[in-house]
Amino acid sequence: MRYVSTRGQAPASGFAEVLLAGLAPDGGLYLPESWPVFSPAELRAMRALAYPELAARVIAPFAAGSFTEAELAALLREAYAGFAHPAVCPLVQLETGLFVAELFHGPTLAFKDMAMQLLGPLFAAALARRGEHITIVGATSGDTGSAAIEACRDRPGIHLVMLHPKGRTSEVQRRQMTTVLAPNIVNLAVAGSFDDCQDLVKAMFADAPFRAEMALSAVNSINFARIAAQIPYYVATALALGAPDREVAFAVPTGNFGNVFAAWAAGRMGLPIVRLAVGSNRNDILTRFLAGKDMSVRAVEPSLSPSMDIQVSSNFERLLFESLGRDGDTTAAMMRDFRRSGRMTVPDAAWCDITRLFVGLALDDRATTAEIRALHAASGYVADPHSAIGIAAGRAHALPGVPMIAMGTAHPAKFPAAMREALGFVPPLPPRLASLYDKEERCRDVPADLAAVEAVVRSTAPATHAA
Ligand SMILES: *Cc1c(COP(=O)(O)O)cnc(C)c1O
Repeated sequence: MRYVSTRGQAPASGFAEVLLAGLAPDGGLYLPESWPVFSPAELRAMRALAYPELAARVIAPFAAGSFTEAELAALLREAYAGFAHPAVCPLVQLETGLFVAELFHGPTLAFKDMAMQLLGPLFAAALARRGEHITIVGATSGDTGSAAIEACRDRPGIHLVMLHPKGRTSEVQRRQMTTVLAPNIVNLAVAGSFDDCQDLVKAMFADAPFRAEMALSAVNSINFARIAAQIPYYVATALALGAPDREVAFAVPTGNFGNVFAAWAAGRMGLPIVRLAVGSNRNDILTRFLAGKDMSVRAVEPSLSPSMDIQVSSNFERLLFESLGRDGDTTAAMMRDFRRSGRMTVPDAAWCDITRLFVGLALDDRATTAEIRALHAASGYVADPHSAIGIAAGRAHALPGVPMIAMGTAHPAKFPAAMREALGFVPPLPPRLASLYDKEERCRDVPADLAAVEAVVRSTAPATHAA
């Protein structure tokens, strides 16, 4: 499989190159040259597979030329061996027609583990073959960071620097990152918002000499390998509820648009998806866009669902490129304009194309808390604030007779303050995380300043990284 950039100016690359590079050299995001498609018969045949085998089959066409399905299956078995549920991503029924797919049974209790636990071994395998090393820089609003750190800690050839907005993550999220004292892990607390962190990461990539000197790589959801690793759970849960012989719909609490873009991709690959409901908190740029074409950036405001406190959703560029008929020049111009003006005017045809499938719902903190309470009262189900927003979006946009599967993206114990406020109790952390509050933390404060951050990245890299 070859990959092209959404900005149309980068040479086509293979899967391993795309995995290690993250962002395309023209500043765009990689997408496969064409989407692999599974026939209904091929999909039905996947019903009999255990999750790692199913995931290997779904990811194999994307990795063709770099990893075989058998190699992927071995890495995926390793990746999901540490999950706390034998089904990896179990489905729970909440109401008639409404289900939650629990994606949070991995080591850091959020859905990021579903992809990241594969990315760690994939990176290690690709680097070992090439005898190379890389510096992974990432921005996190909470969950990506811990998932990436958990997946990359102590892996040879990988130096990982993770930026998070100081004071804007939950304490559990912060401790999950800062208590990992492995020598190849560096945590930076940035004085700013998640968007500032993401801008710093993008600016490091745009600094070509720095990017080459440090052999920069990314594990944010701009990395296509993460998208690929998020597609299988849409396939698995849809098959469990009758697809491809029955239509399905998904609801996804959304921040950077990576998870819901994977759902869209599953549809392109043959899954009969008739609706994608995007859930937002008060940072509702996507839901405003879907409801009324208004894609205009406002200040990021903290909420009960910090992993969705985002205004510029990087992966939206992928959907934009597709809905513009894969016109890289137009995509590049629109993204440049958006960056400059904070406002995007999407052509009518593209907006209509997007809203045929996508709908949105935004919940502020009060409505989120009310949803958590109502869910608990109705069925005893305990949903974290992110998952609750997804569930509410799913219920609001359910179609009669079509199973609506909401993505359960985090374990409620990750957000103790929000849960205490909503339910009057805090669900316990799983035993393997119980010691989190007793561990030593290591983290550096940095200003939201490119030169300062680059200096820290350079000074913390091992000597083998020196050019
Ligand atoms: C990352 C995250 C999201 C948002 O996912 P995107 O792929 O960025 O849209 C939602 N909920 C939780 C708990 C997350 O960690």
